[in-house]
Amino acid sequence: MALRQLSTYVPFLRSFLSAEEEQGGEGEKEEAITLAPARVAVVGAGIGGSLAAYFLRQRGGEAVEVDVFERAAVGGRTGVFTFQGHTYETGASIIHTSNKYLVDLAKEFGLESKMMNVTEIPLGVYDGEQYLFRTGWWKLANIVRSLWRYGMSLFRMNSAGERMLSKFVGIYDMQAMGKSFKTVPELLRAMGGEELYHLTQITAEQYMLRDLGLQEALTRELITGAMYLNYGQGLNVNALTCMASQTGVQENSLWSVVGGNKMIPERALEKSGAHLHKCSVTSVTRRERGGRARYTVETNEEDEGAGRGEYDVVIIAAPLHDKAIQFRDFPTPVYTEEMMATTYHRTVAEFVAGEINPAFFGLDENDRSFPLLHLITDTTQSLAPFPFCCVGVLVPSEEPESANAAYSKPLPEDPSRVWKIFTPRPLSGEEKRQMFKTIDAEATIDWSAYPNYTPPESFPPFELDQGVFYVNGIEKAASAMEMSAVGAMNCALLARDYLHSRVEES
Ligand SMILES: Cc1cc2nc3c(=O)[nH]c(=O)nc-3n(C[C@H](O)[C@H](O)[C@H](O)COP(=O)(O)OP(=O)(O)OC[C@H]3O[C@@H](n4cnc5c(N)ncnc54)[C@H](O)[C@@H]3O)c2cc1C
Repeated sequence: MALRQLSTYVPFLRSFLSAEEEQGGEGEKEEAITLAPARVAVVGAGIGGSLAAYFLRQRGGEAVEVDVFERAAVGGRTGVFTFQGHTYETGASIIHTSNKYLVDLAKEFGLESKMMNVTEIPLGVYDGEQYLFRTGWWKLANIVRSLWRYGMSLFRMNSAGERMLSKFVGIYDMQAMGKSFKTVPELLRAMGGEELYHLTQITAEQYMLRDLGLQEALTRELITGAMYLNYGQGLNVNALTCMASQTGVQENSLWSVVGGNKMIPERALEKSGAHLHKCSVTSVTRRERGGRARYTVETNEEDEGAGRGEYDVVIIAAPLHDKAIQFRDFPTPVYTEEMMATTYHRTVAEFVAGEINPAFFGLDENDRSFPLLHLITDTTQSLAPFPFCCVGVLVPSEEPESANAAYSKPLPEDPSRVWKIFTPRPLSGEEKRQMFKTIDAEATIDWSAYPNYTPPESFPPFELDQGVFYVNGIEKAASAMEMSAVGAMNCALLARDYLHSRVEES
């Protein structure tokens, strides 16, 4: 799956979903279905909502009218902001070459992509007091160091990743054939029998140490560091989430869209022909007319363009844990125990332009291998002077791939850079001054980022009512842009099949 960026820094390992030929979805396709006119509301224009609108258009034809409601910016947790005259990814920044939907859509929309250089810069796994593992500028030396420290566990991890991969890619063929699922466990079981579902029921720690028998050092250093980077949480996340972001990063396996990953949802929304309403949905009320459910969607009265509309189908593509939308007159409650069991993890992205202080990390300022990416092990959360989950140098999102080298020079050659620090809370001025010798500019972006993982996971269903579908329950299995794309396709297929079945019945 390698749905999320990086993980291990071991360039020769294969990733969870690596080779393109393994991706599936290029085989048989179902016969086209053209729906009769109907009205569909989509709540949320992140990657999940924008793709749900786009996939519904592709798989259900032109007659369906789609309204998309978005209370903030199109793109949701993919977004860029301008800092010191450049744009930077603030949320989801890295895509894997194996993420079939995102790869295909970027190509289809003519977006320029750039490979990322995370395996070409020095990395440090830091525990708040010392480095447990470091790499430098020489690839061969890095490989030898990795093998020396982590040994055969790297290969065991890799083969577990390949097994997962061979199961996960099955989803693309199933969705190409029009297969949809009402619950997340059904979807996981269809892909991988009991194994993928089982991985959501145990912690990463249980899976890595007990089931795979990986070495403590690999598990507690690289794997934990990558978990903090990707999810702000350590080995207590579910094993599927961990596997989705852990298996090795090959060279040329991580990429992003030049100008920002948000261009994928923006283009998808444009091409879907949906009408975008910039307002917040406050309620969905169910009514039965002639034996058929219809839904009234109401928006916040204070928003521009606020109002109400009647729909045959509603697709919710925004996390529901905050209960911001009321569901009225539904035969079964939407806010079930499973829904309310999900809370979202706070991740603060601190952007600092300035000179980092190598002495803060116990290093000399002339150290040419000063890590341009720091992964932090969980001990840091209590030991460091203040908590942070990772620290890395940034490349502006508008820069093409050819500019990577200019941003990955050894620190002493260019001491002033833009850094991103993920932390569980905003850092104080004093804390930033400990980490940086000089600060030219700073900015803070606060995210309700991804679920707090608490295996055994329970999942809200995809189908909330006969005509209401929910994309984001899939985030409990693993949160990533490609997962939202898979969830969006599933909900688009459920919606289409529901609308189609109503025509057949009448
Ligand atoms: C800091 C950070 C780093 C990440 N890094 C990566 C990464 O490198 N790679 C990766 O694949 N994933 C990454 N992720 C995860 C990824 O961003 C998410 O899994 C994915 O973007 C979720 O998309 P979505 O459309 O399902 O949800 P969202 O993007 O949250 O979209 C939901 C949308 O609904 C809107 N909305 C909510 N309620 C309402 C309402 N009542 N009415 C109208 N609109 C509403 C919101 O404003 C939002 O735009 C990261 C996330 C964060 C926060």
